[in-house]
Amino acid sequence: MIKKILLGLLLLVVCLVAVLLWNTIQMKPKEISVEPVEIPETDEAAIERFAAAIRIPTVSHESEADFDSIPFLDFAKFLAQTYPYTDSVLEKRVVNKYSLLYKWEGKNPDLKPVVFMGHMDVVPVAAPQSSLKTEKAPGELKANINSIWDVAPFGGEIKDGFIWGRGAVDDKISVIGNMEAAEKLLREGYKPERTIYFAFGHDEELGGEEGAKIIVDLLKSEKVYPEFVMDEGGIITTNKIPNVTAPVALVGIAEKGFISATLSVDLPGGHSSMPGDDLAIEVLSNAIVKLRQHQPESRLTPPAKEFLLNIGPLMPFAERIVFANLWLFEGLMVKIYEGSSVGNATVRTTTAPTIFNSGYKDNVLPTKAKATVNFRILPGETTDDVVSHIKEVVADDRIVVEKGNFLSEPSPVSPTSNGGFKLIEKSILQIFPEVNVAPYLVVGGTDSRYYNEICENIYRFTPITDPIGFHDINERLSIEDYKKSIVFYYQIIKNAGNLN
Ligand SMILES: [Zn+2]
Repeated sequence: MIKKILLGLLLLVVCLVAVLLWNTIQMKPKEISVEPVEIPETDEAAIERFAAAIRIPTVSHESEADFDSIPFLDFAKFLAQTYPYTDSVLEKRVVNKYSLLYKWEGKNPDLKPVVFMGHMDVVPVAAPQSSLKTEKAPGELKANINSIWDVAPFGGEIKDGFIWGRGAVDDKISVIGNMEAAEKLLREGYKPERTIYFAFGHDEELGGEEGAKIIVDLLKSEKVYPEFVMDEGGIITTNKIPNVTAPVALVGIAEKGFISATLSVDLPGGHSSMPGDDLAIEVLSNAIVKLRQHQPESRLTPPAKEFLLNIGPLMPFAERIVFANLWLFEGLMVKIYEGSSVGNATVRTTTAPTIFNSGYKDNVLPTKAKATVNFRILPGETTDDVVSHIKEVVADDRIVVEKGNFLSEPSPVSPTSNGGFKLIEKSILQIFPEVNVAPYLVVGGTDSRYYNEICENIYRFTPITDPIGFHDINERLSIEDYKKSIVFYYQIIKNAGNLN
């Protein structure tokens, strides 16, 4: 009897191994053949034009009082003067004083238009937290602060094969790349079949409520429902996916939602020589600790699964067994992802305490304490779910939970089977034949969130490889990347303009 059971078990194991191996062998990279295209030469003067765009400090400051309109007006003037064909042939509208919407009328009014997005604003250059490492010795820290940028952040310097400055990778490359490509196509006499829009917001770094949102309101009022929209988001990477050495172009098909919740307590204070039991700081700290210890559950969302299925074939054989058999290894995969902060952000609604305020004197027990916790929400959950989660976990009536002013629900997931995605994929492969294209979930937020109202096919991709200095010091883009970007936009505008 025991022998029979053992034999049965052995047979099961053999079958299981056979299934695992079979699935692994069957997992092969997609083979997509695209018509080759001739890659046009990029005009060397374009490099200086990009540097000039970086020299205009279109900074989005956290505080409205710091807003300086002059650079934004200068930037619009710069675009008009530098790209005269685009400025005169396309219909240009200035939206809400600083954002720009260009319309390139297609020959065939029956075709739905396409929108290429970008944002003109940049984050400030003040020392980011990451460059002020407190574990360093005091002398080192000082040296570190002094050497924050190797160049003037708005100097637009061209050196060592790079174009340096704030905005080089986020996101003036999208704006200038599209403008360079449009100008070149116009000079060549190109006329699209399909209408093309270029939509450049001026406050993406503040959430886009004054820029992209108003542009979408305008498009909606004109009943413009795009075929697809392309915004920043994904990039090409050669080193960010563990165990994959082949370059991968990440195209965002969804993005996470955003909510900052404030938690506050108001309790009796007193003298610090006789502390009681209910101390505001202690009560609130406990709540934060609970939130960190009981985070929303991790899981694989549809865009994360699509990503895994696309990068699986690029893995070494042993790893590929896991990717090819998610039906069995999904739990293991989630555990692996939880192990790194980037991975964790892909499989979970994240919990990040970002502000904590309380107290004003060393011998007074404060009556009030207030904290902000930022959550980035997985597709399929909502900002309301987050608030319910906080109340349930904290379970303390003394704590008042409120939603912050800026909220964004997670985006719907855009399909990978339709014309828009296929067109982006084809354009990528035409210009970067060596890369593999993989859809993925964007863990940050982009201006494209507003387009959900008018379009189901929203993709997030910028044609640059492993950018340096994103929201950080020494932001720069290689000249090679810049030139390739212009060619990519040139090609995708042509492909989109002809798509029918
Ligand atoms: Zn950006």
